[in-house]
Amino acid sequence: MATVGSVTRQIAALEISGTSSKGPAPTSSVARPTHAKHPSQPNIAKLLTKFAAPHHQSQTNLSNLPPPPPSRSDKTQPAIDIGRYDGGLEIENEKRGDVVTGDAAADLALDSSLSRIYPTQEWSLHLLDMGRPLGKGKFGRVYMVRTKTAPNYILALKTLYKSELVKNKVEKQTRREIEIQQNLRHPNILRLYGFFHDEKRIFLMIEYAGKGELYKHLSKLGSFSEKRSARYIDQMADALVYLHGKHVIHRDIKPENLLLGINGELKIGDFGWSVHAPGLRRMTLCGTLDYLPPEMVEGKEHNEKVDHWALGVLTYEFMIGSAPFEDRGSANNTYRRIAKVDLKFPSTISPDAKDLISKLLRYDPQERLPLTEVLCHPWIVKYRPNVT
Ligand code: ATP
Ligand code: MG
Repeated sequence: MATVGSVTRQIAALEISGTSSKGPAPTSSVARPTHAKHPSQPNIAKLLTKFAAPHHQSQTNLSNLPPPPPSRSDKTQPAIDIGRYDGGLEIENEKRGDVVTGDAAADLALDSSLSRIYPTQEWSLHLLDMGRPLGKGKFGRVYMVRTKTAPNYILALKTLYKSELVKNKVEKQTRREIEIQQNLRHPNILRLYGFFHDEKRIFLMIEYAGKGELYKHLSKLGSFSEKRSARYIDQMADALVYLHGKHVIHRDIKPENLLLGINGELKIGDFGWSVHAPGLRRMTLCGTLDYLPPEMVEGKEHNEKVDHWALGVLTYEFMIGSAPFEDRGSANNTYRRIAKVDLKFPSTISPDAKDLISKLLRYDPQERLPLTEVLCHPWIVKYRPNVT
């Protein structure tokens, strides 16, 4: 069971591993929930647990893999089913995207082998076996892939069309997102193992989240049990302690940005709005309405406490199935309800859960419960599985 002390020690370890690629491996204080296996892929869970790129062993991490041998017999490949590739990348590339030139091209010439902080080996599509499509992002498709080099890591390959990033004026933001994510090492944050680019696209090699989007699970079930919610919030709080310790504010916490690992563990996926926080910043309206804190709604300065607020909203949404200040009819009403902290609980919510949510959803950012106290809140501790 995690104590404040063990969490603090853990953060110290993570900090060290965050500043040096050869640093000690992080260990999680958070035990993993055991949900049912994905029905459509009965064998893959075991294989992925074995072959998914490691979190905890920086010595053997993907970045340090040697280049592949020049000729490698396919017979030596382990039989991991990554599904059938539909040729979608090539088909899409014929129709989509333009070549980017000038300053934007320089901004988007992203290659992890050249990274000053975490250089990796040189990657290219030729070094990957393509598998099944995992989804479509705003800027390109996402595929399940496997490195051809032993030990044949399983990854998600996300493509981003450079010209579309430029069209949406997010080239700087994307660069920043990639730089931030490459520096993060935490079991509940999707790891970015490497990236490379060609004329039209950027390719991100991301930790594969075997159980997909958390949002889909929430939509299917309507809401989560208190136990399941508490376990997710425990993992979220742990990841946020780590992020804030590195002066990264997420700013866009919501179920759509969370994925689930093969063991059902929570993984923060999207860093599109995260910023390195030099101090207080002027607000820009950027989050999903339902998760915005009062200070952002009112156009005031904000700091990392926006994530504490969002954690409260998330806790509520997990258990009730909708956000606490949601008003589908009127955005203005949602704003008003947020600014008033117009919080109502259905009678089904336990007193402990209510207590935690009410302590996170405070108008004054400074009054919001510190994350270390979230981690030892009775509601969280009650449902945390014992780990020896
Ligand atoms: P959107 O705005 O639709 O969320 P996006 O550009 O943020 O798009 P992603 O959400 O990252 O794109 O990816 C699109 C889909 O691909 C996701 O909804 C998810 O189903 C799948 N996906 C993305 N990353 C991974 C991953 N690491 N592991 C497994 N599936 C993934
Ligand atoms: Mg997304």
